Amino acid sequence: MASNFVPASDLDILESPEEILSTLTRDGKRRWLYPTPEKGRFWHQRRILGWALIALFVALPIVRINGKPAVFLDVVQREFTFFGFTFYPTDTFLLLLFGIAALTSIALLTALLGRVWCGWGCPQTVYLEFVFRPIERLIEGKEHVRKRRNEGPWSFDKAWRKALKWGVYAVFSIAVAHVFVSYIVGWESLLDWMTGSPFEHWGFFVLMAGTSALALFDFGFFREQMCTIVCPYARFQSVLLDEDSMIVSYDPNRGEPRSKRSKKTIEQEEAGLMPSKGDCIDCFACVRTCPTGIDIRDGLQMECIACTQCIDACDTIMDRIGKPRGLIRYTSEHALEDQPTRIARPRTVLYSVLLLAVTVMFTVALTTRGAYDVEVGRVTGMPFTELPDGQIANRVRFRVQNQTTQPTAFSVEVIAPEGASLRVGGRQPIQVAPRDLGRVEAFVVVPRTAFSNAAQQEAQFRVVFEDGHEETLTFPLLGPSR
Ligand code: SF4
Ligand code: SF4
Repeated sequence: MASNFVPASDLDILESPEEILSTLTRDGKRRWLYPTPEKGRFWHQRRILGWALIALFVALPIVRINGKPAVFLDVVQREFTFFGFTFYPTDTFLLLLFGIAALTSIALLTALLGRVWCGWGCPQTVYLEFVFRPIERLIEGKEHVRKRRNEGPWSFDKAWRKALKWGVYAVFSIAVAHVFVSYIVGWESLLDWMTGSPFEHWGFFVLMAGTSALALFDFGFFREQMCTIVCPYARFQSVLLDEDSMIVSYDPNRGEPRSKRSKKTIEQEEAGLMPSKGDCIDCFACVRTCPTGIDIRDGLQMECIACTQCIDACDTIMDRIGKPRGLIRYTSEHALEDQPTRIARPRTVLYSVLLLAVTVMFTVALTTRGAYDVEVGRVTGMPFTELPDGQIANRVRFRVQNQTTQPTAFSVEVIAPEGASLRVGGRQPIQVAPRDLGRVEAFVVVPRTAFSNAAQQEAQFRVVFEDGHEETLTFPLLGPSR
């Protein structure tokens, strides 16, 4: 096994004692990182989970539930399908509850387990660590070899490896982009467009090329900067975490005073032949493996994505020098101060209660959602028209969302005020396909006397479906003031 000890001179970060970003050199240039994978127990667990998540990502737009993809974000038709339930723009309340539940879940997860999502579930981490970096290692070699080659002059060896790597990256980026786009356009449309000429589907071709280029840029070049510069989640970390949150942390009580020394020296310390030092032997294995280039021993930092690589690296070192594992471990700030870690605390209780309440409301609203969603609105333009016979006409529009899997038909009639009539544009009943939206415009004509007391008069409409279902709607009609 290769030694995990690295000379300090190999680490650019050590050459720069000033406080600078881990991914920048002192003159502001990008400091290219060469994190050494440490294939410990957490790495193996993360890899299994990562590949399971990739399989899920590919499967969700293909697997069908109730005749629709498991997840389908149909922006063109403005339909959003999740596991057999389809939401429409008219489902404002449901979408609002869904949004609140998602945000509350993130807040609760972070308060309890820190940035566990970043290290274990985020596609950025999963694809970079378990697809793109392994390809790079396979083609260009281990970290020190890559670093030496990258910093050296161009040669045939360097050129063919780079060309091959970027070619393979491009293939994987195109694959990732196709799966991503299938969430928006649907798998069938995607297959159809893929097998057709780009000239027939220019929009799709441009969308796919752009998405592939972004994936290639991100995984091939931008990498950890997405987490440390772009992603807003890291910025919220400081307000979402507290002293009881689980974080990946170095234990300074155990590790300090750190000192670079061999196993033999440690054995002499343990035998009482030399003064004892902390368990950290200052080997920098934890820094060298970090994908964001930070030193976990400096404390909790915004750049830490909780990937656990430093835990694996340090555990390997501890095994080698005969010390117990866990100098770097999952812990809380309170635990590091020998105080109990509390799971139930005001913020976690509040988030849990809110999440439970919103989940119950969402479930009730979803399961009691009617088969049809009906609304009436005013057509923009003149608020009302005075007809030659003196009657007052308001122009309205009815929208009927058929939320069932069966076709239906509906008719609209006016039931108040007295003497009102409805002049519908087109023939009734109006047909609506399964899970489709039906629209119809109409003039509501009422006698002028309806407005003798006020310039506004409430109308009532009845929408009758072919299965006998009825909905009653009210709507304010406008007329001349006295
Ligand atoms: S914390 Fe562990 S891995 Fe990091 S320098 Fe100290 S002994 Fe090495
Ligand atoms: S400090 Fe450790 S857990 Fe945090 S990003 Fe670096 S290697 Fe991952």
